[in-house]
Amino acid sequence: MQIPFNNRYVTLGEEFFARARPTPVKQPELIRFNDALARELGISTDRLSAMGAAVFSGNTLPEGAEPVAMAYAGHQYGNFVPQLGDGRALLLGEINGPDGARYGIHLKGSGPTRFSRGGDGRSALGPVLREYLVSEAMAKLNVPTTRALAAVTTGEPVARDRLLPGGVITRVASSFVRVGTFQYFAARDDYDAVKQLADYVIEKNYPQVGDSEKPYAAFLKAVVDRQAALIARWMQLGFIHGVMNTDNMSIAGETIDYGPCAFMDAYSHDQVFSSIDRHGRYAYSNQPSIGLWNLTRLAETLLPLLDEDPQTAVQVAQEALESYAERYQSEWLAGMRAKCGLTVCSDADIDADKALLEGLLDVMADNHADFTLTFYYLSHLADQPSEQDNDLRAQFENPARIDAWLEKWRQRLGLEGQSDEVRRQRMQAINPVYIPRNHQIEAAIRAAEDQGDFSVFHELHTVLQNPYVQQEGKDSYMRAPEPEEVVQVTFCGT
Ligand code: AMP
Ligand code: MG
Repeated sequence: MQIPFNNRYVTLGEEFFARARPTPVKQPELIRFNDALARELGISTDRLSAMGAAVFSGNTLPEGAEPVAMAYAGHQYGNFVPQLGDGRALLLGEINGPDGARYGIHLKGSGPTRFSRGGDGRSALGPVLREYLVSEAMAKLNVPTTRALAAVTTGEPVARDRLLPGGVITRVASSFVRVGTFQYFAARDDYDAVKQLADYVIEKNYPQVGDSEKPYAAFLKAVVDRQAALIARWMQLGFIHGVMNTDNMSIAGETIDYGPCAFMDAYSHDQVFSSIDRHGRYAYSNQPSIGLWNLTRLAETLLPLLDEDPQTAVQVAQEALESYAERYQSEWLAGMRAKCGLTVCSDADIDADKALLEGLLDVMADNHADFTLTFYYLSHLADQPSEQDNDLRAQFENPARIDAWLEKWRQRLGLEGQSDEVRRQRMQAINPVYIPRNHQIEAAIRAAEDQGDFSVFHELHTVLQNPYVQQEGKDSYMRAPEPEEVVQVTFCGT
């Protein structure tokens, strides 16, 4: 296997990482390799069958790899921890993609590092499968995300609350630098390192700000923009990250570190899945404000770069942070309008549209309507009441409530110039049929862990590759869980 490495993170200096080699595992076997992604990245895979398991378990280092555990700090549930770092992951190196962008390749579950803090450096198979399924589904749902290049079983058990089979996932991202990476150096008053890190990220991920008069202010503003847009996307799909600690927020605006994440089935404003998020800090409806809280922590680390005068620096930071709410609102509104088939026609009133869209979410919450199916069935309705309304009505405990909403919606459609058919096509192109539902992920993990059967994982993965198109014979993947199938709690598995 040839991976065209061009490693730059390792040139930043020894304080940015700890060199480490993956700890070999007993009997690695490849579960899945992402051919399509490998091709996109220009990785040639002629000898893959022979090499894949060895490389993606960390048993064999590919030529040109310079593995390091990256240093970072982070606020975990609001408490600052000055040193976290990759305790069970390694950046193998960076490559230049054919698109000109540079990507990092990262093993997770590859053994202890200087940052393991007593942990075993390993990952159980379940979280590996969950991350593979969810991150690849997110990519198909047009959500910025780290990607999954490969997953392997290790042939070794890991000790959690019980013994579980181990796994390693190989992830690809446009950056593995986190908000917490900036915090690591700021906490040490090492602003030369903060500047070096900012320059590295700007050159790699935000080249457009490099030429600006105040590049660091422009950088902060650009990170704010991307994060606002990212979280708006999550909200429009009912996605709950679950652990939005600052060490789990990418500087590049990609979804990163899939742990106890989940998509909602029945809509609820304050849904929480993670077993350790007891106070709902990372509940669905809190995600936008937590995004801003995390970005404020980032801004604090950048203050000395923003202006020589501390007061001016604070002003510059505040300006960037203040743009978050507006950017988030406009992304949210644009996406939600599109989901409901509303274009921004000249007669449309922003506040009226907002009230209409929030009204739908309220009716969904009161009626425990399935998030994904509500928008899916809405995408099939005509601009006049018809038999088809019944598919949507069936999602609501009290169908009269959605009838009342539909009446307002149809009035609003009356302001549109678009034809019924065009609207439905547009809506169906963005409202998915299939999302990685929690109970199906759980079923895939159970089959793999308990029976060594990966067919459930592969079939689910295949369905999720085409989330917007109804696939023959795959109806079971679109339906909401039966009451006894509902997964209430997810675990990060660390
Ligand atoms: P996470 O919850 O996966 O975002 O991890 C938070 C921190 O704990 C990071 O520094 C991880 O590297 C570290 N960590 C998580 N699981 C393990 C493990 N099994 N062994 C060593 N470090 C770990
Ligand atoms: Mg993490």
